Amino acid sequence: MSIFRPSRREILSLAATAPALALPALAATKARAQTLGGPAAANPAHFRFQLGDVVLTVVSDGHLEVPANGLGVNADPAEVTAFLESYFLSTEVNYSHTNHLVIETGDATVLVDVGSGNRFQPTSGRLLDNLDSAGIDAGAITHVVITHAHPDHIWGIRDDFDEAIFPDAAYYIGGTERDFWLQDDLVNQVSTDMQQFVVGAVNSLNVDGAEWSLMNDGTEIVPGVRVIDTPGHTLGHMSVVIESGGKQLIALGDSMNHAWMSTARPEWVSGFDMDADQTVATRKRLLDMAAADRMAVLGYHFPFPGVGHIARDGDAYRFVPALWQW
Ligand SMILES: [Zn+2]
Repeated sequence: MSIFRPSRREILSLAATAPALALPALAATKARAQTLGGPAAANPAHFRFQLGDVVLTVVSDGHLEVPANGLGVNADPAEVTAFLESYFLSTEVNYSHTNHLVIETGDATVLVDVGSGNRFQPTSGRLLDNLDSAGIDAGAITHVVITHAHPDHIWGIRDDFDEAIFPDAAYYIGGTERDFWLQDDLVNQVSTDMQQFVVGAVNSLNVDGAEWSLMNDGTEIVPGVRVIDTPGHTLGHMSVVIESGGKQLIALGDSMNHAWMSTARPEWVSGFDMDADQTVATRKRLLDMAAADRMAVLGYHFPFPGVGHIARDGDAYRFVPALWQW
């Protein structure tokens, strides 16, 4: 766990100064977007497509802005900087999207992760608004699957009255993940930087109105939707596999948290990856599986909508974004 060292203070202070770091042209665009009601109102925030008989909609919760030096923390910083520059990315800010998946099978509507609500960064917490603009009735969500209990994936579970946001849904989380965060006195065993993460996870898991079912490797949520163990980013992290009409998509969660880096440099981990060795082993297994079986993938933090494929590229891999079809 030694590698896990996110600083919430750093994250929040960086978010506050982010406009100063943005390109001048982007600053003007941002100002225009804000007059239109914010980025969520200015741009499409959902992406709908079909996988066999299942309708999938990627719905954004907004984005996060975290320090780019949290990427590739086990690599030579000069190499990481060169990598980011080669992809025309900021070497200061990791501008990270948050892509939720809604799975409509006909009998069930499954939502993967609940976002961060109003508890994390001001640029996120738009899931409910964006579900609404995607024409998805929040009251119709029958199942909620949580990949892991980090702020951007679970803190949005509580409404302003501290009750579960989807009171009629069935809630699912990995048994290992739940047991990790709810172990006795964890908050006093972690670094001060991580204490907020623990308190937030505990409060989220103990929310009123959520009845939890615990998942194991292979647990079927509804026919055609199952979860698989993908530990490393957190110890009980799970990913969701959707299968219909001979086609498969895997919602990766944060097992790969950067579209270009996690694929081209799968051995580089981020400061948010709890167990580095396990993260890399899981990631390589997933990359190999997705490339060999031509499975579609959805990266939670990939550039919106985050859907595409994995191609083998020499000893590593390449993310190939799906062609947006209207
Ligand atoms: Zn995340």
